Amino acid sequence: MQLLRFCFLLLTVSIFAQKNNKYDTFFEKGNGNQSASYSETIAYYKLLATDFPTIEIQEMGATDSGEPLHMVTFNAEKEFNFSEIQKNKAVLLINNGIHAGEPDGIDATMQLFRDLALGRIKTPKNTVIVTIPVYNIGGALNRNSTSRANQDGPEIYGFRGNARNYDLNRDFIKSDTRNTKSFAAIFHKTNADVFIDNHVSNGADYQYKLTYIMTQHNKLGTVLGDFLNTEMMPALVKDLQKKKIETTPYVNAFQDTPDKGFGQFFESPRFATGYTSLFNTIGFVVETHMLKKYADRVKVTYEYMRSAIDYTDTNYQKIKELRLKNEEQFQPKKAYTIKWEIDSTKATTFSFLGFEGGYKKSDVTSGNRLFYDRTKPYKKNVPFIKEFKPVKEIIIPEAYIIPKGFWPVIDLLKNNNISYRQLEKDTIIEVESYKIADFKTTNSAYEGHYLHRNTLVTSKIEKVAFAKGDYVVSTQQKGVKYLLETLEPEAIDSFFNWNFFDTMLQQKEGYSEYVFEDTATQILKENPKLKEELEYKKQNDSAFNNNPEAQLDWIYKHSVYYEKAHLQYPVYRILK
Ligand SMILES: [Zn+2]
Repeated sequence: MQLLRFCFLLLTVSIFAQKNNKYDTFFEKGNGNQSASYSETIAYYKLLATDFPTIEIQEMGATDSGEPLHMVTFNAEKEFNFSEIQKNKAVLLINNGIHAGEPDGIDATMQLFRDLALGRIKTPKNTVIVTIPVYNIGGALNRNSTSRANQDGPEIYGFRGNARNYDLNRDFIKSDTRNTKSFAAIFHKTNADVFIDNHVSNGADYQYKLTYIMTQHNKLGTVLGDFLNTEMMPALVKDLQKKKIETTPYVNAFQDTPDKGFGQFFESPRFATGYTSLFNTIGFVVETHMLKKYADRVKVTYEYMRSAIDYTDTNYQKIKELRLKNEEQFQPKKAYTIKWEIDSTKATTFSFLGFEGGYKKSDVTSGNRLFYDRTKPYKKNVPFIKEFKPVKEIIIPEAYIIPKGFWPVIDLLKNNNISYRQLEKDTIIEVESYKIADFKTTNSAYEGHYLHRNTLVTSKIEKVAFAKGDYVVSTQQKGVKYLLETLEPEAIDSFFNWNFFDTMLQQKEGYSEYVFEDTATQILKENPKLKEELEYKKQNDSAFNNNPEAQLDWIYKHSVYYEKAHLQYPVYRILK
């Protein structure tokens, strides 16, 4: 009898254990230093979606790897139609493994969804949680143990580049990869109010396990930016402190030790949160510290996401209202900043938990090396700058006109939910037109491109003939910031800078000098003012005066023979 009872007890315990073990993640089953592979991760979410009606998993487009991108949703009310959800709930979107060698978020989010489904943590009533379980699938399939040379675990992880070796966290505007196009589909479908992108840091050593980037608040827009900077971010930091997790803004100090201070990382639209901020979404990057134990990093990533969920759930109405108000700031005729600079007059200090650092003679090179002494932790006030100031502004036009031939640009606008109309007939319209006056180009390949920078344009008002079917894109829409950042050539991540319009930089036609000599004589004869200008330039520019070819070219470029398309930016601005 006693034995029977004992056996029964054993059986109950083992059934109970089995029931609980069923939902242990790959990470939890290991020794704390193992991360789930791509297939283990997807299989786990499929298990959750099968067992819990509050969780749904769906395929959302292609990736360069050939595997589909997945999106997983938790909604306590079991509603998965996002136009319904957006009516009365906030959406928090979590992206994992964009750098597949930084998988903390992959493992932490599996636990998070399980705990939400099982009711092990507070159920959000007003917030729907969405995750991309593994974003860089090609990178995740390319598993190894060496490509993160400075990182402490996990034992095996993926690679930074995707299936075609693109860094997906530079691809959000140029969209060379299928991953980016599928991300846009998820992002616009969910209309995420809050976004988290999970990473692991490189760089300095310090005491923190968790560092964070909040999307640059000046750039986000006054209404939402002020709220993020003065209310939401401090509240998240405080909530994490309550859980005994100290945090610091991302330690953006790569040349020297952080105690001399550092400025906020500025994420232009090529980066995930730079892109999401174009649609008035509050974005955070979690950067755990690469030299901390993997299990600790997964834990703090988990807690950051929980704090963000709790805050969003309490403040969901305010966040949704402020997003709409933020959008209203960007109206035609108002100024919009396309270039920002850190405002060093606005440095503050904060209490930083670091390790004493210094330099000593290197054992391997002929130079000195930086080192951190972990036996000497410190708490010091260090300078920190998070304010940025405008250095270049444009005036927001009423609309842009894009000739229908530039379909790669049109396709990206469509992919980003931009609305437009097409001209019903050939039409002459008065527009502001840009000529490319100057730009520099990187000497080496950067993310599959030879990126332009320091672009300058000159502008004039002129009447241009447009064709039936050309695209008129109003700026009075939700994606206005996306339009301004991509279509204004001088903006840092403009389509121009990403080589979409390089064909306009090359002259297609020319002339034979011996023939054009006679034409040039005739041109100057018929146009004394032009002849005067030429003589003036010769007198005042000795290099020009000594260069007959340049003189002939100057006449050509001031004649009707010079092609209009050369250096002409083909997207035009309608001002009224
Ligand atoms: Zn990263």
